[in-house]
Amino acid sequence: MTDSTLHLGVLVCKKCGSVEQGVGIEDIHEGLCFNCFYEVLTGKATWPEKPPSERDRLISAVDQFAAKMKMKLLEKFDQGWEGWDHDGLGWLLDCKDKLIWHVIAYERGDAKQLVDIANFAMFLERLEGRKKGEPQ
Ligand SMILES: [Zn+2]
Repeated sequence: MTDSTLHLGVLVCKKCGSVEQGVGIEDIHEGLCFNCFYEVLTGKATWPEKPPSERDRLISAVDQFAAKMKMKLLEKFDQGWEGWDHDGLGWLLDCKDKLIWHVIAYERGDAKQLVDIANFAMFLERLEGRKKGEPQ
């Protein structure tokens, strides 16, 4: 059971692109971060400003997507799902199966699968990195 007042959400600043987590923010919300809000309020900055560059939009897109990944993973963790970083061939093969299953579900029209696809890709990237001895 989730208490909506304790819901951990994400604020994406429409001005600087920063991503902040906070309690009581509904899911993913676009607005102004505290610093940008303060600058606009005190006249140190104007709003709206020139549109963000392609590079800034790329950073913002990655940050927003990573925030969705994290929210989904923490939601599942809070439901009791554990073992995402287990060693062993069984989990590696399970991850591959689940990745393919989510890709097939996406291919059939369910765009909500994209975050799960990314999360299973992240698990697999970690497992493959571990095999190569990458620090984790
Ligand atoms: Zn900001």
